[in-house]
Amino acid sequence: MPTVLIITGDANDAKILGDVLSNAGKKSFTVLWKETLAAGVKRLQAGGIDAVMADLSLPDSQGIETFEALSAVAPHTPIMTLFSAGEEVLTTESAHPGAQDYLSKAHFGSYLVPQSLRNMIQRRTIEEKFFIEKTRAGITLNSISDAVIGTDMEGNVDYLNIAAEIMTGWTRGDAHGHPISEVMQIMNGGTREPERNPIYLVLQQNEPMKLAAGTILIRRDGREAAIEDSAAPIHDWDGKIVGAVIVFHDITASQSMAIKMSHLAQHDFLTNLPNRMLLNDRIEQAIILAQRNSTHLALLFLDLDNFKHINDSLGHVIGDKLLQSVAQTLSACVRGSDTVSRQGGDEFVILVSASKHVEDAALTAMKVLAALTVPHLIARHELHVTTSIGISIYPEDGLDAETLIKNADTAMYHAKEKGRNNYQFFTNAMNVRAVERQVIEAHLRQAMVRQQFVLHYQPKIDLHTGAITGSEALLRWNHSNWGEMLPDRFIAIAEDCGLIVPIGQWVLREACEQTKRWEIAGLKPVSVAVNISVLELRRTDFVEGVRAVLQETGLSPGCLQLEITESVLMYDDESSTEILQRLKDLGVQLAVDDFGTGYSSLSYLIQFPIDVLKIDRSLVSNIGFANGTGIVVGAVIAMGASLNKRVVAEGVENQGQLDFLKALHCEEGQGFFFSRPLAAEQFTTLLTTGWRYADMEG
Ligand code: C2E
Ligand code: MG
Ligand code: MG
Repeated sequence: MPTVLIITGDANDAKILGDVLSNAGKKSFTVLWKETLAAGVKRLQAGGIDAVMADLSLPDSQGIETFEALSAVAPHTPIMTLFSAGEEVLTTESAHPGAQDYLSKAHFGSYLVPQSLRNMIQRRTIEEKFFIEKTRAGITLNSISDAVIGTDMEGNVDYLNIAAEIMTGWTRGDAHGHPISEVMQIMNGGTREPERNPIYLVLQQNEPMKLAAGTILIRRDGREAAIEDSAAPIHDWDGKIVGAVIVFHDITASQSMAIKMSHLAQHDFLTNLPNRMLLNDRIEQAIILAQRNSTHLALLFLDLDNFKHINDSLGHVIGDKLLQSVAQTLSACVRGSDTVSRQGGDEFVILVSASKHVEDAALTAMKVLAALTVPHLIARHELHVTTSIGISIYPEDGLDAETLIKNADTAMYHAKEKGRNNYQFFTNAMNVRAVERQVIEAHLRQAMVRQQFVLHYQPKIDLHTGAITGSEALLRWNHSNWGEMLPDRFIAIAEDCGLIVPIGQWVLREACEQTKRWEIAGLKPVSVAVNISVLELRRTDFVEGVRAVLQETGLSPGCLQLEITESVLMYDDESSTEILQRLKDLGVQLAVDDFGTGYSSLSYLIQFPIDVLKIDRSLVSNIGFANGTGIVVGAVIAMGASLNKRVVAEGVENQGQLDFLKALHCEEGQGFFFSRPLAAEQFTTLLTTGWRYADMEG
């Protein structure tokens, strides 16, 4: 039940009003009565009053002051003034903002009094609700990050929230009454043409709408921001449009984040090159284009030849930097329309799109090989990498990305087998080879158990005396169905799958045992050279393994020579020096195999404890041809002499080569001209009879 406070000095009036209000049935009030302003004010301050009925003429206050005093105490409580005839003017004057009613004494007893009092209270309640809602809306609008601008029917701004002030650079005061096109300047992000503010369309069509994608807001200071928004009409009670409101927010950050995310998803984090996913996309697109224009496209699959070694010996940080440097080199080798991507590890794929001629791919491959001859300068290291490249062509070698990549990969393996640092086109025969590789690997695992390995021995000859100075142990695999397999067909596979380690251990032990047997039999010489893969050398237990084999077989360390390839010496890293030094400390001899094909620098050669240089047979085989290789061989021999290293020429096949080498004072030779690699029994015979120098001269 609402409580009404009656303030009047007239007890009769109070009684009449009190009666009509408290006996109004369902519409009854709790009625309180005070005679003076002071008492009324006091009661009001105590609270709980829903409405006041006040006679403005009170014993302690007259007229408008009475009203003001009451409304000052309870500004939100509705006041109904009571007046007698002739007082009307005063009451009208006292009309105050807010709910205000008045009641003539003539009507005090009317049954309408409770009703009008209720109406007055209700109106005030609605006003209060409205006020709360308006405040809440104001706070909400100013706390959200979306900008909100309101306009009238002409599109002139009549409201801006704080976010809109910040985004446009206009304050509410400045913007008020200005056209929206001025306060919120927008343009098309693509064409950079000014765009009409959607508010105008909303006002015209009386329908909400979204802003075109890619809209740019130009702030008052000229700065730009990508925005996203919508605009809607505002209606009055009758549903008539009276203005519009536009809501928008800055999507610059989320847009650049989205761009960044999609870049990350499509690029390799290390080199920033397109990744597998993006490459596949580009290939599919290039295929569609090639179909339409009847052109070719080529895929170059690259695998760095000696990356693993660099990474293992110099560490991942340098390895990563090298990959980044290679990525740059590769990118510089291709046209803008081509794609260089990293597949992972040290594998890259280059998409040469829309080539008219198949030769374009070969040109790119040659360009890449040439570009990679320039060393990479990383953390004071001069790093040389080469690469093996396999090429597949659309449509000849595959009709989809997957097949093309697979076949380019297969061709790459072929390039590796062809001695690395070269490129090979895919041929169908290679697919057969790829399968063969897998078969070989499977059989290789059995070969040890089935004792299918044997060693052959090839003599090294003193070129001046013709004496056999030692042998090189060369691995042979006697497969029950395939016959004798030469190392070139299976060593690389054994290295790839890790089988090289147990195989190498067997070779070392077998070579040492056999050489010891010859020594015991009184046959000379008693020195054997064993080929060691880099992968074996890098194992922490390698030196210890060599020591154990020497001890167990009883072969004196001076009779064992380990042949390592040039790549071990290519980097001035501590682990190489340490391993080689520890081997030297054991007393074994160290030889650099295939010398002259890599890039080993002279300074490293001096620094490493090497005894022997074996000139690669590709250099020897060119002796006599007019391409200057003879000069290289001569230089290597001279260098060996001045560095105090023995020089052994490999692959000596004829008298001409022998004469040339002898003339240059090369000390030792090895090759078919002297003897092919022989099984142990045959080599025993050779040791017994000796190699006849007279025959050679004859
Ligand atoms: P390499 O160490 O350079 O061995 C010399 C290769 O040249 C041998 O081939 C030998 O048969 C061949 N050769 C010798 N004289 C001549 C000649 O006058 N003309 C021609 N054209 N070739 C000649 P092989 O036995 O096929 O071995 C090939 C390669 O396989 C070796 O090259 C070596 O790097 C590797 N290899 C052989 N046995 C082993 C082994 O037990 N362990 C490891 N890790 N690698 C091995
Ligand atoms: Mg060798
Ligand atoms: Mg060699």
